[in-house]
Amino acid sequence: MTTQIDATLIPGDGIGPEITEAVTAILDHMGAPFKWDVQQAGMAGIDASGVPLPQETIDSIRRTKLALKGPLTTPVGGGFTSINLQLRQEFELFANVRPTKTIKTDGRYDNVDMVIFRENLEGYYIADEGYMEHNGDPQGKVYSTGYNTKDEARRITRAAFEYAVANGRKKVSIVHKANILKLLSGMFLEEARDVAKEYEGRVEWDDRIVDACAMQMVMYPDAFDVIVTTNLFGDILSDLAAGLVGGLGLAPGANIGKDAAIFEAVHGSAPDIAGQQKANPCAFLMGAGLMLEHVGLNGDADRLKKAVIDTVQAKDRVTPDLGGTGNTMSIAEAIMDRL
Ligand code: NAD
Repeated sequence: MTTQIDATLIPGDGIGPEITEAVTAILDHMGAPFKWDVQQAGMAGIDASGVPLPQETIDSIRRTKLALKGPLTTPVGGGFTSINLQLRQEFELFANVRPTKTIKTDGRYDNVDMVIFRENLEGYYIADEGYMEHNGDPQGKVYSTGYNTKDEARRITRAAFEYAVANGRKKVSIVHKANILKLLSGMFLEEARDVAKEYEGRVEWDDRIVDACAMQMVMYPDAFDVIVTTNLFGDILSDLAAGLVGGLGLAPGANIGKDAAIFEAVHGSAPDIAGQQKANPCAFLMGAGLMLEHVGLNGDADRLKKAVIDTVQAKDRVTPDLGGTGNTMSIAEAIMDRL
C-alpha cells in the first residue's frame, strides 16, 4: 500500500465546494493516498479569517508542498490582488502546465494532444501600469510594462524540454513575438533557443510567432506537441487550446515551482451555476490526476484519466455542459463505477 501523502485542499469559492466534494469522493474511492489538510482561500478565506489568502493556508502549503486548489473568486474592488497571482509569487510557481487532449468525440478535432508550458511569474503579468498626459488630459494615455529575465526564460524552457524527454514527446515549439517586442520577447526567444540546442538529437524543436501560432493551432492542432511561451501568450493560447477540445469543462492546470506544486481546474468559480449541482467536476478531477502524476503515481493517474474519458464519451450521467441531464454527483458516480 502506498504511504499517505500530506496535501493541502482548498475547496475555493462558487462551484468549488461542490466539485471538491465530488473529486474527493472519487479519489477516496480509488484509494488515492492523499491526506488532506483542508484550508480556505478566496471569498471563503475572507469569511473564515478576514483575508483572501489566510496565513494558515500559506503555512499549510509550505508544509505539504502540494495542493489541490478549487477556483477562487477575486473580490472586485477593496484593493485585493488576485489570490492566484499571490500564490504563484509566494511559492515561486514558475511553470503553468496545461495539457489539452481530445476527449469528446463530437468535437471539431479528433487528435489534439498538446501541453502548454506558460511562464508564470513575469512578462506582462507584472502589469506595472500608469497614466501619462496626452492632449492636455493628464490621464489621456496609459502604459503597461512587463519584464522577462534570462533566468526564467531558461528555467521554463528547460522544464518544457525535460517534460518532453520524460514523457516521450517529440517536439517543443517556442512561441514569441520577437519581431515586434525585440527585447522583451527577443531575449526569451534567444535564451529558449540556446536551451533547446542542449536537447538536439533528443527532442525536435521549432519557434513560431504567436499570431501565426494561434492560426496554426486552429488549422492544424495535431501539429503541436509541447509549447513553451511567456505568461500572457501562454494564458491566451491555453484557453484557445481548451476551446479546440470542447471548452474549459475538461481542462486542468498545474502550477509547478521550486517550493511547491498547486493543481487546479483552468475554469473559475462559475458563480452563475454555484450551488445548483450543475458544475462539471472533470477539469478539477483531471487536476487531481496531474497531482497523482506529480507524486509518481502514473498508473493511478492513467486509470483516473481513462475513467473520465470513457464516462464523457459514453455521456453517462454527464452534466449539462457535456450535453447530459446529470449533475455533479451523478457524473462522479459514473466515473467511480468505471474505476
Ligand atoms: P468561469 O470559468 O468561472 O465561468 C465561465 C463560464 O463557464 C460560466 O458560464 C460558467 O458557468 C462555466 N463553467 C465554468 N466552470 C464550469 C464547470 N466546471 N462546469 C460547468 N460550467 C462551468 O469564469 P468567470 O465567470 O470569468 O469567472 C468567475 C470568477 O472566477 C471570477 O471571480 C474570476 O476571477 C474567477 N476565476 C478564478 C480562476 C481560478 O481560481 N483558477 C480562474 C478563472 C477565473
